[in-house]
Order: sequence, then structure tokens, then C-alpha cells
Amino acid sequence: MNQKNITKEVRKAYQKYDDQAKRWIEDYTAQEGRIYCQAGCFKCCDMPIRISWAEALTISESLTEEQFARIQRHANKVWVNAHKSKTSDEYAENHRKFVGFCPLLDRASGGCTLYGDRPIRCRDTYSGMPAHFCGAGALEKMTPPERKQYQRIVRSDEVFDGYSHYIAPLEDLSMPAWNRFSLIMKREMGVQIWGDFWYLVTMTRNADFAEALTLKNKRKVVQKLQELGLYHEEIVQVE
Ligand code: SF4
Ligand code: SF4
Repeated sequence: MNQKNITKEVRKAYQKYDDQAKRWIEDYTAQEGRIYCQAGCFKCCDMPIRISWAEALTISESLTEEQFARIQRHANKVWVNAHKSKTSDEYAENHRKFVGFCPLLDRASGGCTLYGDRPIRCRDTYSGMPAHFCGAGALEKMTPPERKQYQRIVRSDEVFDGYSHYIAPLEDLSMPAWNRFSLIMKREMGVQIWGDFWYLVTMTRNADFAEALTLKNKRKVVQKLQELGLYHEEIVQVE
């Protein structure tokens, strides 16, 4: 596995996405479309985030020791949540409630301290409605008429996917990047590893985890990670 090549390709895919997203946003806003994301807005930074092993390696490469230690502590909470939650929905809900905001967020400025290397999921999340709709529990707190109004908007405007207020075409534009990460992992490791952002980044510096990935066989990798006590299907998926 050539890590330098992997991280170079990941950053190229990020750049391509950013360029395309910029052009899309320019066209959209020129036609009176509105995107509510802006510097310092961070209500979405407590959501669970799925990344690829290729991205985990890229992120790990640019972290300071202090940032890495904070990610490790966050990953411990992610691990506990995965074991305590009975379903994926419960896991996602508890992530926002108990695991909380990404440790790379600077709460004072609302800025991302890893902006240049942030995962593709952080890049392709854009809101077509005000930021309070992005906060944890926002939909649950709505009154029935408010919920009806929300549903009416996300179903009637084609910029949404019919279920949420995040801008669907900007999510769709990231598909080539996801596919690129998938190809890189298949080519370099024979398997694809996907999972929780903070857990996978932590595992990039765990020699046993990295060794298990060299087995190049999905069943064997899962078995080895289980033996090592490093596997939970909610936060690591081997494909
Ligand atoms: S997705 Fe929502 S919370 Fe995140 S930056 Fe955009 S408006 Fe703010
Ligand atoms: S990496 Fe940055 S943008 Fe992504 S969740 Fe963390 S602070 Fe937010």
C-alpha cells in the first residue's frame, strides 16, 4: 500500500469536488437560490460522519499530536455509543446527544481546524434552509403544523431530496469522490474499509488494525479485527 499515492489521490478528489460545487453554487445563487451555510456556522458538526480508510489516512497525515489526542478521546466515546445503542437510528441519535461536537471544531470561532483536509461528507453538506433546522432534535421539536410545512417545502422544491433540507445536487456531485475512494482501497488493499470518522482516524495509528488490513480478504479482516477487539459493525464496515 502506497500511502503517499493514496492521500494525493484523495486530495485531488476533494479539489475536484470543491471546484464543481463552487460552480454549481454560483449558478444556483445567480438564479436566486439560497444556501444558508456560512463561516462560523457549525450546528451540523455533531452529526455522525462516515469516511473511507483512504480519507482516514489523509486526515491522520495532517493532524498535530494534540488534535490526534482529541480525536482519540472522541473515538472512545464513539466506541461506547456503538456498544450501548441497540439500533443504527439510536446510534445516530445518541451520537448527537452524548458523543457531541467534532473535536476539530473551534467552538469559539465556529471554524473547522482541519478545513483543507476535512472529509467529503463535511464538504457536501449544504443547507437550503436556516441553520436552526440542522441542529440536533430540530425536527422532533417541531409542532405538527411546523412539521407539515417543513415536509411540504422539502417535497415541493426539486433542490431537496424530498426528505431533508440538505441540497441534493451538491450531495450528488460528491459521488465520483466516493467512487474514487472505493477504487483506491480496492486497488491498494483488496478490501474497502468504511466507518466512523474519528474511530478510523484513530485506527490509522494502531499497528494491529493496520496489520489486519493486509489480509486482503473481507472475512479474514473482520475475523482478525474481532479477535483483536477492534471491530463493531456500526463503526467499521469491511466490503
Ligand atoms: S449545514 Fe446547517 S449547520 Fe452546517 S454550516 Fe450549513 S447551515 Fe450551518
Ligand atoms: S472536520 Fe470540520 S467540518 Fe467536519 S465535523 Fe469536524 S469541525 Fe465540522
